[in-house]
Formats: sequence, structure tokens, C-alpha cells
Amino acid sequence: MGQRKPLYVYLAARKDPGMKATILVIEDNEKNAYLVTFILEKCGYQVVQARDGERGIAVARQIKPDMILLDIQLPVMDGYAVARELTKDGELRGIPIVAVTSYAMLGDREHILAAGCVGYIEKPINPSTFVAEIEQFLTTDKKGNGLRSVP
Ligand code: MN
Repeated sequence: MGQRKPLYVYLAARKDPGMKATILVIEDNEKNAYLVTFILEKCGYQVVQARDGERGIAVARQIKPDMILLDIQLPVMDGYAVARELTKDGELRGIPIVAVTSYAMLGDREHILAAGCVGYIEKPINPSTFVAEIEQFLTTDKKGNGLRSVP
């Protein structure tokens, strides 16, 4: 991540701020949160971070994001419990929750979906495909308007 991005990348991400969808990233690992935030902001999304599940749920209730990216391995309250709690809340039920997890074991997909997530993305994330992967779960009007690829 050491390379510098050209200025137009940032300018493109900043045009038409009224159209930006808000994505809540619940992730305890600072490096992962930083990378995901960087990529999403570059593509025109507004990102809010939470470092644990309890805080993530509180922030979700407060800001009603357009999407929640949820780490499964979280301290105290794991991602499954967070997803169950979020989907129990009538006001949050329509928000797509996408798990971002390094668990690659068979059966996790079922657990993830059973907990209320709409899908999952495996870690380590691929920066060149990440946005397209999460955008499958967003309606057209919620998609970011930034550049899709950086030269
Ligand atoms: Mn984690």
C-alpha cells in the first residue's frame, strides 16, 4: 500500500457527495479496516468503522448504513452474534450484511447465511475485485460513483 495514488482518484471520489452510500465496517484488525476503508472511499463510499460488535450494533442503529461489512472473528461478541442481533432489529433488517472472513472451512457459508448475512467475502481481500464483490449486494442507486480501477 505504499504507492501514492494520483490526485484525480481522490477528486473523483469526492464529486457528487450527495450520492454516496454509507458502509459500516465492523472489523477489529486496524490494518484490514484501513485497507477496506481506503478502497471504498476511493470508489465514492462513505465509510464508518467500528472495532467490535457491540459498538458496531450501536453505530448501525445510530446511522442506518446502506451496507454493513462484518468481520466474523471479533472479540467478545463474534460476527455471527452481531449479525443475529442486527437482523432482529426491525429498523435494520433491510440493510445487507456481508461477512468478511478468513474462515475458509466448509460449513461456514451456511453459518454465515443462517446468521442473517446476505453473503461473504474471503480474507485476504483482493483490492482489485473487492468493490465489485460487495456491490453485488447493493442496489444500483446505492453504488459508489468513484473510479473502479487505479492505474
Ligand atoms: Mn477480526
